Amino acid sequence: MSAVAKPEIEPNIILSSQVAQGLAVIGDRWAFMIVREIYLGVRRFEDLRERTQAARGTLASRLKSLVEQGILYKNPYQKSPVRHEYRLTDKGIDLYPVVLMMWRWEHDWGDHHYLPATLVHQACGSEMLPMYRCSGCKLEIRPQDVAFSVGDNFEAARKIPPRFQRRSRSKHEIEGYKGPEKVQALDCTGDRWTSLVLAAAFFGLKRFDDIAMSIGIATNILSDRLKALTRMGIIDRVKYLERPVRHEYRLSQKGRDIYKQTLAIHEWANRWLVEPGREPLVLHHKACDTDLHGEVVCSHCEQVLDPHEVTYQALAPTE
Ligand SMILES: [Zn+2]
Ligand SMILES: [Zn+2]
Repeated sequence: MSAVAKPEIEPNIILSSQVAQGLAVIGDRWAFMIVREIYLGVRRFEDLRERTQAARGTLASRLKSLVEQGILYKNPYQKSPVRHEYRLTDKGIDLYPVVLMMWRWEHDWGDHHYLPATLVHQACGSEMLPMYRCSGCKLEIRPQDVAFSVGDNFEAARKIPPRFQRRSRSKHEIEGYKGPEKVQALDCTGDRWTSLVLAAAFFGLKRFDDIAMSIGIATNILSDRLKALTRMGIIDRVKYLERPVRHEYRLSQKGRDIYKQTLAIHEWANRWLVEPGREPLVLHHKACDTDLHGEVVCSHCEQVLDPHEVTYQALAPTE
């Protein structure tokens, strides 16, 4: 097993990756919004409903699924009548790097008045931005510095997770969706096909046919998602051939910055969804020539961020 700089175009390579497995659990727009609200201290059904604007049935089904996946557990807070609140399990708390990197992206690129305006690191007493970096060499991780190799378990992991087999719907078709338009990171990555198209781009795939084959997406859905990503400034459509005219799709800086949350999902899936030593894809940081392990640190003191040590300066109004 050796690291390769250029990706091999394997059918469904992205679908087999830990990113896809992670997205199958938390890649749903609603699931992610719920987890994020619970991080902000919202724990009760009615409060979650108000914050996410999810329809009652949608919220109930996502909460049930997050409990089944071991991300949340139900904690009784009242005896008669019995009432439960939702809390994060260790597996859920471990999503913290993903939540932080999503916050960072919204801060840098999004219309972020929906999010807490400022994060404060209690350990050093400073306002800060979360930074994602290699835990080995401490450098920030860029897509071009990451190589991957196919692990021993790639074949076994190749089966498509059942939730991907359903055609996913666009934002406006999502059942019961009437939430705020301003949750931009979720708009960009909130549906699983979009996330997978981005994952393909992070793995270095630029051409339409390569992307289509790598994630097993129908071509009409792919062109739809690529158009949307181009409109949002996540991907640039660049002509690489005059005759016949051919285009390829390259990540913009805004798009490359989503890479960090994608890596955080990859690592979370490695810790919780994959048998140790049987990872379908192994990532290497070329800068320090080791298997890649990221950490999210405080931009001020560079200590690894712990959820108990980070507070929110002010909750921005929801409207
Ligand atoms: Zn490194
Ligand atoms: Zn700090």
